[in-house]
Amino acid sequence: MSGVLLALLNSTPIVRGTRTDQLADDESTRRWLRAQGLTVEVGERQLLREARNRLQAVVRAEQSPAALEALLSGVVALPTVDDQGLTWEIQATGARKVIVDAVAEWDELRRSQPGRLRPCANDECHLFLLDRSRSNSARWCSMATCGNRLKARRHHERAVRQAGDSPPPADQDRPARR
Ligand SMILES: [Zn+2]
Repeated sequence: MSGVLLALLNSTPIVRGTRTDQLADDESTRRWLRAQGLTVEVGERQLLREARNRLQAVVRAEQSPAALEALLSGVVALPTVDDQGLTWEIQATGARKVIVDAVAEWDELRRSQPGRLRPCANDECHLFLLDRSRSNSARWCSMATCGNRLKARRHHERAVRQAGDSPPPADQDRPARR
């Protein structure tokens, strides 16, 4: 399952050292919505931002899941029964629908893949990852960026600690080769 949740969580990337917000204004929100293939009025931007902020806080364990309750107020589901059985259909449109879908996805992941949705282990990165590895050991949103950057930094720190004996290797800042 891959819906809107990660895209929403990852809408505040750090770009060249500065935290950005893809939902900061109408123009960037329009771009973000288009990239996700969503039809939502940009006027509902604040609703999306509020939901995004709460979801980020919950996934970072800064707030309890109860913080998501307010996002669902007034949402109604109607039951229908057909040959396939019972289905609950959410009666929501626009940003409301996107938000309910994101919360439903968060809950589904929490049950089916507990602990696998998490913030990138790089403190200077604001992205989230869904760990699909068998060993459940992924720590970075991307090995190519955060993973290698932190490895290089650790390597550098180790080299500095050992510098009493010998100078650090000259290639410490070069990105790791794949
Ligand atoms: Zn990262």
